[in-house]
Amino acid sequence: MRIKGPPPPRRQPIAGVGAAKYLKIAIAAALVPARLGVIPAPAFAQTTKTITRRPSDFVDLALVAPAISIDMRYAGAHNFIGRPVPGYDAPRCLLTRAAANALQRVARALARDHLGLRVYDCYRPARAVNDFVRWAATPDADAMRPEFFPNVAKDALIPDGYIAAPSSHSRGSTVDLTLIPPPAPPVPAYRVGAPLRSCVAPAADRYFDGSLDLGTSFDCFDPLAHGDAAGIGAVARANRARLKAAMETAGFTPYAAEWWHFTLAAEPYPATWFDFPIAPARLAKRRDRAGGDRR
Ligand SMILES: [Zn+2]
Repeated sequence: MRIKGPPPPRRQPIAGVGAAKYLKIAIAAALVPARLGVIPAPAFAQTTKTITRRPSDFVDLALVAPAISIDMRYAGAHNFIGRPVPGYDAPRCLLTRAAANALQRVARALARDHLGLRVYDCYRPARAVNDFVRWAATPDADAMRPEFFPNVAKDALIPDGYIAAPSSHSRGSTVDLTLIPPPAPPVPAYRVGAPLRSCVAPAADRYFDGSLDLGTSFDCFDPLAHGDAAGIGAVARANRARLKAAMETAGFTPYAAEWWHFTLAAEPYPATWFDFPIAPARLAKRRDRAGGDRR
């Protein structure tokens, strides 16, 4: 989950690596209130341009590139918070048409090498990012830590700069994804309360979600998630390089701190953040066919 854009003032991330290094939900504006136990104001109150209408060029990836597998983690409970996130009313991957078309090109290129794609997150409503920030500033509520941030204390996420807002995902041209083998393995049903498996464990011991070995699980807030992390095996390193090369060829820019996160370089909304909810398909079907909600 990359957070980019007009950065609010924030602390330097730990270890001196680029701005939002791990789980990037950090708003320095929230630091003092967080230390006082006060929930910070929603991050998007600080942004100047947040649009609550779905523009006409946001499309459903399943209609543009049906071969790409979809596992929208924030629509369910298998994520670092452990419950569905506000704004994800359906497990759909919405992206700008430009990003979806580029992703389709990636999928076609990888298919020639007998590889597939599975997305974890796409367009992310601003309200979801605000929810991340509120969660990060709330003591306790760290039930998912053993899997998603096993080496970082919950109360260190904001003060140490792990969490930041706003998110580039809210601009509609950023995607989190992994490589899968063909045919696409089914997305496992996640059972709340299932044993948690550390995201930095060896591949055989991590939660199996159908992904090839990329060195860590998705949304692993740990240095091992950095694209060039030295501590991963040769297979994972090769898979990361394959994914990165395919995405770059199609015009996506990787994010050094997260192997799964890419933004379309020529994104159509480089300075606009959106906050319309991801609606169930039955409600959005007509506007998808028409190319979007034209209200
Ligand atoms: Zn991301």
